[in-house]
Amino acid sequence: MTVIYKINEFFETIQGEGAFTGQPSIFIRLQGCPVGCAWCDTKHTWEIKESKKIIATQMLNKLQESEQWSALSIDEIMAIVNQQGFQAKHIVITGGEPCMVDLTPLCTAFEQQGYSTQIETSGTFEIVTSKKCWVTLSPKVNMKGGYKILASAMQRANEIKHPIATEQHINDLKRLLKDHQITDTPIYLQPISQKKRATALAIKTCIANNWRLSVQVHKYIGIE
Ligand code: SF4
Repeated sequence: MTVIYKINEFFETIQGEGAFTGQPSIFIRLQGCPVGCAWCDTKHTWEIKESKKIIATQMLNKLQESEQWSALSIDEIMAIVNQQGFQAKHIVITGGEPCMVDLTPLCTAFEQQGYSTQIETSGTFEIVTSKKCWVTLSPKVNMKGGYKILASAMQRANEIKHPIATEQHINDLKRLLKDHQITDTPIYLQPISQKKRATALAIKTCIANNWRLSVQVHKYIGIE
């Protein structure tokens, strides 16, 4: 059976977050997310509307963020990555919430072509992907959609990247780590929206807990 993925956009840039910060990367953004984070900066990926379905060439020519998406097979995705002339050898599958679908065939196809793969997920859906794939889990606790963070997702994560603005967010993270007995996974705190207070709180908390800081480098240098 041909696997089809719903793609909002492709772009090549520098990964600006977490352990792979600085890595040239090809981002593949999947459409669809029911988690409902109030501060989400990709709200245009939330809904999968049939009326917004477009063909691949239209999707590649989008000039601004939009709810439009294309249904593409793995062969079509690989062909696009080749045709676009992308140079990066690292694939980041993001969303939306990419773990609403089985990512194993897509990640495996790229890995067989010599790419490394990474996914960025909220941890609210079962993570089904290749063994080699690097999983960045950004746990979204108590969001409007009412989804819980799954124990299996916490165990699979290669890194935990937590957006924070208040002490409450840090307490949520500490409770989550305790509940799931996470002790060795690298933790990254990411200040929400580059706010000064959030950044100061993140720095202080990282030093106190020997965690790491993730500052969304791409936003500071003005790239996507
Ligand atoms: S999980 Fe990600 S895409 Fe979904 S609402 Fe939250 S921040 Fe946005």
